Amino acid sequence: MAAISVNCKQCGRPSPSTDFVLDPYYGMMVCAACVKARKQQASITQSREKAKADAAAHALQEQQKGKPAGWDAEDEYLEKMGRFRKTETAPTGETQGKEKLNKTCHKCQYAYVYNTVTRFPRSCPYCGAQIVL
Ligand SMILES: [Zn+2]
Ligand SMILES: [Zn+2]
Repeated sequence: MAAISVNCKQCGRPSPSTDFVLDPYYGMMVCAACVKARKQQASITQSREKAKADAAAHALQEQQKGKPAGWDAEDEYLEKMGRFRKTETAPTGETQGKEKLNKTCHKCQYAYVYNTVTRFPRSCPYCGAQIVL
């Protein structure tokens, strides 16, 4: 018994009726060529999706490398600010209080700053009276 040639509803090409299959994707009888084309298309889409997922996972890995869990841009900003503040205030704040004394001359009441490290001035800059510590 010879197969009857039937036109495929999907691609419009004539194919032997024995080649037709009910395809779940098209929801109708389609020729073998259409099924093959659909399967190829599906595998291309799948591999594209997989590549996309792989790239996303890789990017996430790179992001987390060397950083503690829960690290984000805000932490990084705060850390930078903290470091900046430390270097800015540390040298001046402490040494000034140790070295410099706000003194007033016992004779003329002239106010000046006395340096306990360099021991300067040795006498009142205004009247020249000896400094009494
Ligand atoms: Zn077809
Ligand atoms: Zn004085």
